[in-house]
Amino acid sequence: MTIGTTWAGTHTFGAQRLHVPRTLEEAQEVVARAPRIRALGSRHSFHDLADSPGDLITLREVELPLEVDGATGTAVVNGSQTYGAVAVELDAAGYALPAMASLPHIAVAGAVATATHGSGNRTPCLAGAVGAVELIGPDGELRWLERGDPDFPGAVVALGALGVVARLRLQVEPTFQVRQDVVNGITWASVLDRFDDITAAAHSVSIFTRWDARATDQVWFKSRGDAAPADTFGGTPATSDQHPIMGIDAVNATAQRGVPGPWYDRLPHFRMGFTPSNGTEIQSEYLLPREHAVAAIESLRGIADALVPLLQVTEIRTVAADDLWLSPAYERDVVAFHFTWFREPEAVRAVLPVLERALEPYDPRPHWGKWFAADRERIEAAYPRIAHFRELVARTDPDGVFRNAYLDRLVL
Ligand SMILES: Cc1cc2nc3c(=O)[nH]c(=O)nc-3n(C[C@H](O)[C@H](O)[C@H](O)COP(=O)(O)OP(=O)(O)OC[C@H]3O[C@@H](n4cnc5c(N)ncnc54)[C@H](O)[C@@H]3O)c2cc1C
Repeated sequence: MTIGTTWAGTHTFGAQRLHVPRTLEEAQEVVARAPRIRALGSRHSFHDLADSPGDLITLREVELPLEVDGATGTAVVNGSQTYGAVAVELDAAGYALPAMASLPHIAVAGAVATATHGSGNRTPCLAGAVGAVELIGPDGELRWLERGDPDFPGAVVALGALGVVARLRLQVEPTFQVRQDVVNGITWASVLDRFDDITAAAHSVSIFTRWDARATDQVWFKSRGDAAPADTFGGTPATSDQHPIMGIDAVNATAQRGVPGPWYDRLPHFRMGFTPSNGTEIQSEYLLPREHAVAAIESLRGIADALVPLLQVTEIRTVAADDLWLSPAYERDVVAFHFTWFREPEAVRAVLPVLERALEPYDPRPHWGKWFAADRERIEAAYPRIAHFRELVARTDPDGVFRNAYLDRLVL
């Protein structure tokens, strides 16, 4: 069976087999038998992170129905389902998640494993909503790891290194409505002067730019409830819906112009059932302490000439701190600088060291699922709990059943 490529076609899987079991017991047997195996999510990472020197497995065909517990405000979900599918069911039951990524197409366990995030000064990454994970270990045994267990902070953003996540227990809240307002042409002078006000003006804020010298392209404000942000920060409210990448049809994007809608159809930028982003692309992202946001923007503006020829769009977001060892927001509120590049691998590989040199003074941590140039030494310096993570992996998976080239090269 050929397994094909990542969603963006940026890596061809070398794994020999993809198992698609139909029951949990079958999944446990497959894992117990396999000398080397890794979980595959929805393939939205951009490199060999999900790949395996042996087999791959997905639990997307295993029926693990959503279980909502209103008393504790939690929901148990199948990790191989997409956020989009989970969200519709959760909403129908009267509940919501506080955060979603830019796209609903990604699998829950895959997104959690890489600390995927949306935006919001007070909103942690999607893994921040996880209260427990159910893992199939190398022996095929199932076990739940709960918040409070000393291993828990290492077992959520775990890059697939601890086993196959079957179910996750997520913190939920009563369902809510969100309105989305897009403002064009907020100047850099305004962004630099009022960065904290702009990012605090809504539940979730995204600044999109192609590093024009004077002004940003668009700022998306996602507000809970009915009220628009009180200020437009000198920009012009958009009068038609927009796509974050200028020139692409806004039909792919979630509704704007202040029209309220369910949380799951406004917090992501892209609509389920439509292509998110561009499709022909490579992505990179760096997260660094929020207090450096303005200085980092100045540094990036300084290398705009190197970035712009390869760039479809940059998105600037904020993410609240968490306690998960491999999260780029571990113990720090961060600002995230994202780059959607044209799919020109050699040129992107060449620009990444330039970008990373510009951000180096600000202690950046790269997004695990996107392209970066940082080597093992840099990763080690960026993650203060990496030694604890290595010890946890060595104890949980002593024979390296879940290891792969990415983990050996950069993490373990
Ligand atoms: C168009 C696009 C938009 C994006 N937008 C955002 C964004 O807004 N914010 C952001 O932070 N990132 C974003 N990303 C990155 C994306 O969210 C991450 O790469 C994420 O990991 C993708 O999840 P996946 O299910 O596709 O995982 P995969 O790429 O399939 O796998 C990623 C990792 O998760 C592990 N994994 C998957 N399933 C399981 C499981 N059941 N048990 C254990 N481990 C598992 C894999 O082994 C691998 O290590 C975007 C990517 C694309 C392509």
